[in-house]
Amino acid sequence: MKPFAELLQQTDFSDADLLRLLKTSDPLECQALYAEAFKRTTQVHGNVIYFRGLIEISNICTYDCRYCGIRKGNLAARRYTLSIDEILEAARYALKAGYGSVALQSGERDDPKFIDFIEEVCAAIHDMSVREFGIAEGCGMTLSFGEQSLETYERWAAAAGNRNALRYLLRIETSNQKLFSHLHSGQGRAQKTYAARLQALSDLRSTGYQVGTGVMIGIPGQSEEDLVRDILTFKELDVDMLGMGPYLVSQGGAMVEEGMMHKDALLRLTRNMLSTTRLALPTVNIAATTALETLESGARTLGVLSGCNVMMPNVTPQRTRASYQLYDNKQGTESDPDSNVQLEAELIANTGRAIGRHLFGSSVHFRSRQKTKKTKAADARP
Ligand code: SF4
Repeated sequence: MKPFAELLQQTDFSDADLLRLLKTSDPLECQALYAEAFKRTTQVHGNVIYFRGLIEISNICTYDCRYCGIRKGNLAARRYTLSIDEILEAARYALKAGYGSVALQSGERDDPKFIDFIEEVCAAIHDMSVREFGIAEGCGMTLSFGEQSLETYERWAAAAGNRNALRYLLRIETSNQKLFSHLHSGQGRAQKTYAARLQALSDLRSTGYQVGTGVMIGIPGQSEEDLVRDILTFKELDVDMLGMGPYLVSQGGAMVEEGMMHKDALLRLTRNMLSTTRLALPTVNIAATTALETLESGARTLGVLSGCNVMMPNVTPQRTRASYQLYDNKQGTESDPDSNVQLEAELIANTGRAIGRHLFGSSVHFRSRQKTKKTKAADARP
């Protein structure tokens, strides 16, 4: 068997190599893996973390994914939708802090009223970023509103304005199709299909979004081989960005009895997955998620030390934060807005990274693709 140190120097990895990286529990090998992922992130993306101000617009959802605390079937959830003014105030906070982008998410709906509302929200944030903050193209926007029609994707893209910093996050959650079906099994609209998820990702790409996906790590019934297949799927989909976090159980979900991994093992597997993915996909943006921070206080910093280069500090108004409980004990629901200032300080102190203020923060992967497209177009001219 190849020495682990030799494996870390590769740029191409077989499935067996990826599995070995993912599976290691040797403390020295783990540290070497994280250090290599951090080093390669610096080489490709520089010494900067991109911030997106996260606004949780509404926890109303018409679906019933079994793992999710805000699924329709959780009658204990207190439902809310922010007003346009509240959303603008949250976006204003993020832009004032110098975050070049906002990330908007909610439960999944596809009724005309919701589609109109999101279109209005995107247009209002774009206008504000141009008028109040002098960002000529408008701020960056990452949307995360689930599977929608091509027409809806196009309407929202047009409203968001800045096509150079337009992103959509739609996680596959797992590439194991049997497990995907289990996570999305149930009555009526609980059903989601893996094929529809892939079609939505393809539609997003054709509409011009930077496409992001991701998975949960440590789902009951998920194997390390599944995680390797996840990484290969990210490559096949040619994604621009990834959001991955540990699977955390939710009392409002329908998987409580299936339990979850032990915290220490889950933290190690999550870091192994982040670092292995970084080695396999060096040019994509990878976010250090709130789920990671919920697993262990300070773990978002560990995510950065494992190869992440994006963070999404929560700027949602205080009054509704506790209601967006995708999983139990979600981090940041009680914290005041200044906790983001504290997060920045901790990040700089613990990782040596700088905050990428006033930058759109598109991934190197996306920027290279754009460049190739332009070169091809120029070459095709007579
Ligand atoms: S994962 Fe998304 S679509 Fe599924 S129940 Fe939760 S909010 Fe709704």
